Amino acid sequence: MILNNSPVTQHRFQDIEFFLKRDDKLHSQFSGNKARKFKQLLNIENPEITTIIGYGSAQANSLYSLASLACIKGWQLEFYVDHIPNWLKEKPIGNYRGALDLGAKVIAVSELSLEPIHPKDFIETIRKPSNDCIRVPEGGRFSMAEFGVRELGEEILHWTKYESGQDFVVALPSGTGTTSLYLNKVLKPHGINVVTCPCVGGADYLTEQFNELDENSHPEILTLKDKHHFGRLYQEDYVIWKQLLEDTYVEFDLLYDPMMWRCLLEHKHYFEGKTLIYVHQGGILGNESMLPRYQRKWDQAH
Ligand SMILES: *Cc1c(COP(=O)(O)O)cnc(C)c1O
Repeated sequence: MILNNSPVTQHRFQDIEFFLKRDDKLHSQFSGNKARKFKQLLNIENPEITTIIGYGSAQANSLYSLASLACIKGWQLEFYVDHIPNWLKEKPIGNYRGALDLGAKVIAVSELSLEPIHPKDFIETIRKPSNDCIRVPEGGRFSMAEFGVRELGEEILHWTKYESGQDFVVALPSGTGTTSLYLNKVLKPHGINVVTCPCVGGADYLTEQFNELDENSHPEILTLKDKHHFGRLYQEDYVIWKQLLEDTYVEFDLLYDPMMWRCLLEHKHYFEGKTLIYVHQGGILGNESMLPRYQRKWDQAH
């Protein structure tokens, strides 16, 4: 199965010329940075494995990516969540719907336990996976992610060799920071800086996440002047997302990408005189649930 060499396209947003690494185009289902992070699991050839076990939010991009991976490998995905909101259960949408369509089992631990229990603890103490299971931490925050992200880094490096005489800077938003950290590890030694922004928690939290993965060279962290909460709706995010779509004809993710673009606009000096490469990390299916929320809030006329 071929799962690399995503295309690079060229765009202009406001007065910024940039190249876009299209990891959203890696594969029809198994794409984006979750595909890079889980790539090593594709190579497992162990007939004993029947099940892959993950946890997180019922709307997470990693839920859909793990469901795609399970489908490709002929494994069953069990994905543990705290709860599934009623509206989502009644009308499955986005990553949740996509995962169910691919045969994933999404299990709400709050419905199975009288005491509140974290999905991770539920897996360890009640599900107790045996040797036929593979466990994946939330959001693919594990050292196994390095394998696939390294390939992404090498593709970018290879591409830059044909664009000589330029100074490159690579930008991508962070959740757990796993992707930006391992990408920086590949690119930094070649003089290419990686910049990111903390979409979950602040800059200190992201630095902690980096430290836990045990790498001493970190990507540059850009932040917004105003506080930004993960999953909350911001009119500025929606405006920039629509503007991106209009200028580039590319659909970006609504959860992470708007903050990164806002940071880039607020810190233009970071890439002045440099060539910007932005990594599109997929996540478009998640827009199926995010976009209606934005439209209800700010497009009442529709
Ligand atoms: C998961 C995800 C991220 C964050 O990736 P990390 O490796 O956790 O930093 C960013 N963008 C999209 C679209 C994602 O799905």
